[in-house]
Amino acid sequence: MTTQQDFRAMPTPAERAVADVPGPREHLTSPRTQAVLKIQQALVAGARELMAAEGAVELFQPLIGPVTDPGARGAKQVDVDYYGHQYKLMASAILYKQTSLVAFDKVFFIAPNVRLEPLETSSTHRHLAEFHQIDVEFACASRDDAIALAERVVRQAVRKALATQEDALRLIGRDTAKLSAFVEQPFEVLTHAEVLDRLGHPHDPGTEIGWQAEEFISGRAEAPFFIVDYPKGSRGFYDKEDPERPSTLMSFDLIAPESCGEICSGGERESDYVKIVTRMRETGENPAKYGWYLDVVREGIPGSAGFGIGLERLTRWVAGLDSVWQASAYPKVPGVVSP
Ligand code: ASP
Ligand code: MG
Repeated sequence: MTTQQDFRAMPTPAERAVADVPGPREHLTSPRTQAVLKIQQALVAGARELMAAEGAVELFQPLIGPVTDPGARGAKQVDVDYYGHQYKLMASAILYKQTSLVAFDKVFFIAPNVRLEPLETSSTHRHLAEFHQIDVEFACASRDDAIALAERVVRQAVRKALATQEDALRLIGRDTAKLSAFVEQPFEVLTHAEVLDRLGHPHDPGTEIGWQAEEFISGRAEAPFFIVDYPKGSRGFYDKEDPERPSTLMSFDLIAPESCGEICSGGERESDYVKIVTRMRETGENPAKYGWYLDVVREGIPGSAGFGIGLERLTRWVAGLDSVWQASAYPKVPGVVSP
């Protein structure tokens, strides 16, 4: 059982050093970086294999569009001048994931995302201003289906890395027996409320679990685990509100062990036009901005569930890295000027 004191002893962003990222030549010629990037390639290959076996179609996400995911908490979006129209760089593929289901029942993207995270995240070891997600959406799926699928994707990705990257994992000193044991057991599912109890720290049940608290529980976890039932307000308008428990979302996060914290977010989605517009208004979003998306929704999109796995975060955990920037060839640590 954890105590309040334990949690509060976690270093704050100000007490942590901002990542010291080497220049591109030093970073890219490092045998460690090369090993990590090969492990990442195996993770992607494993995820693609699983998606193919599930019958999912891989699409390529637009990089710019009139709107993007507003659910990226605290991060700023990037404007692009598109022939005089103010466009955004994609913060996630969510709008395209939902609308692509009019063509295919099962879709996925391995998509770049840009989020100008707050400056203090430069020392969290888990934020990048530019990163990739293995972004999955299945029509007519429930949250439980998406949870089970996310578990299968992570397991297959890690198995692929273990099977094909023995040398790279050895070079970086990863304990492969431990890694294998982590993914060969079922991942536990805890509710948001249960996690707050375990934290033993007075916490507003209506708010997100902060990254420090999450790092703390992750450090004590014996395997990856899911957290379900995040409160409304902690996610974008697209995660469905539980009809039986208003103000609770049918959302989930996957938390990796070894202090890595969240590596995946997802949920069952809202697909009803009126409810989506209401949720947009409730979250302070102007529905008029979402014209193209709402036009598709109004004519009908299937109910769905899906998730996005942070590829660099998954790589960080699998490779046992101190920091997520080490899992990128050209890392963009928030606020750090870099190529
Ligand atoms: N859009 C979510 C995110 O980027 C992922 C998802 O729910 O599919 O965190
Ligand atoms: Mg997330």
